[in-house]
Amino acid sequence: MLMGHSWSDSAGRTDRADTSQVAELKERYREIRSKVAKRTQDDNRVRRRLLSKYGKRESDRTIQQIHRITKKIVEHAKANQFGIVMEKLKGIRKLYRKGNGQGPSYRGRLNSWAFYEIQRQIEYKASWDGIPVVYVNPRGTSSKCPNCGSSLTKLEGRKLLCPSCLHIEDRDAIASKNIMACAVPQARPGK
Ligand SMILES: [Zn+2]
Repeated sequence: MLMGHSWSDSAGRTDRADTSQVAELKERYREIRSKVAKRTQDDNRVRRRLLSKYGKRESDRTIQQIHRITKKIVEHAKANQFGIVMEKLKGIRKLYRKGNGQGPSYRGRLNSWAFYEIQRQIEYKASWDGIPVVYVNPRGTSSKCPNCGSSLTKLEGRKLLCPSCLHIEDRDAIASKNIMACAVPQARPGK
């Protein structure tokens, strides 16, 4: 199961996909691009060539880093015979537009392209290993407590509190668990 940057499985394990390196890389290449643009002001042809070269390199490296993330997730699913459930991407993008405490700079650095790539790779790798992949609509997935179903209260930052059972957890992790719970009836074991 994957939800934005967090994922959880039916054994109750929740983890974050570490995308910090992808974000750093995007930042580094943004600096490179602005330097190139400055230094090649007099030569459009050279500028185009260099920007295209660095653009290609950035995208190759981003894909490599995402490979490391998706490999770990698919291997975990395979080892435990889990299916994989992902949010419909439209939901992820909407969530990011609305903001979830990460701030605009973070959202800008990790653009929706990276999420498309994460899903694309997971789907591809999972199909090689015969792991079922299901997409769910993420609407409202962080409004109810995954333990008791009560409505949650917002705390500081990304945390949510359940007033009934006093469960406190990161918003992404809660959404991830709830999505997992709705997806279970659809799962087809052994397939
Ligand atoms: Zn609760």
